[in-house]
Amino acid sequence: MIIAIDGPAGSGKSTVARMLAKRLGFKYLDTGAMYRALTWKAMQEGVNLKEELALCQLMDQTTIEFRGKDEGLNVLVDGVNVTKKIRLPSVTNNVHFISDTPGVRHRMVKLQRKFASEGNTVAEGRDMGTVVFPDAEKKFFLDAEIEERARRRYGEFKPKDKEVSYADVIKDMEIRDKRDTTRNNSPLMKSSDAIYMNTTKLTIEEVLNLILKEIEFAVKK
Ligand code: C5P
Repeated sequence: MIIAIDGPAGSGKSTVARMLAKRLGFKYLDTGAMYRALTWKAMQEGVNLKEELALCQLMDQTTIEFRGKDEGLNVLVDGVNVTKKIRLPSVTNNVHFISDTPGVRHRMVKLQRKFASEGNTVAEGRDMGTVVFPDAEKKFFLDAEIEERARRRYGEFKPKDKEVSYADVIKDMEIRDKRDTTRNNSPLMKSSDAIYMNTTKLTIEEVLNLILKEIEFAVKK
């Protein structure tokens, strides 16, 4: 069984997908982490982020793995733990080069489908319901007002990182939303058969419970 969860940054999808996978005993596939991992490696190696051929070659020489589970889930690039590094603002700001490269996406999709073929999976990203898993048993599209999404993201920052203002976070999010929704390759979009959820006024527990109810309903049908 595959459960696809898509949505913009700060919609709550990562937290919910992780909790849902734990609750159901499913594997958790964080596809954003995969795009971030290749971005990190390309930056390390000084690869031109605008050169498709170079990025595809890099991808072919790179192993991206997930190890551990739940809170202990780590992302490894060629055996190196990059879990924290891939969340750095420099990676976040450059990931759009990688995620808008067709040859890279093609390779990523292959890996993502292989991952899900090995067991029940909760897959989270931008194109899970539309492109990667069009036949997923259950699809959700999580959304929230941008002020709330930015507030959540800002709340995640440690005090030492608070030189970034809330206004900066909103601005960065607007840029990322625009890039993700208007790019040519697999833009962020709700699949026509996905359940839309506005999480602005909901807690994570409430979102999780609504999703669990939908899944229960689907299983009973
Ligand atoms: O989910 P996360 O914020 O970690 O994703 C980082 C970036 O990776 C997104 O802004 C998007 O450009 C890209 N991405 C994508 N397709 C996915 C998952 C993430 O293009 N399935």
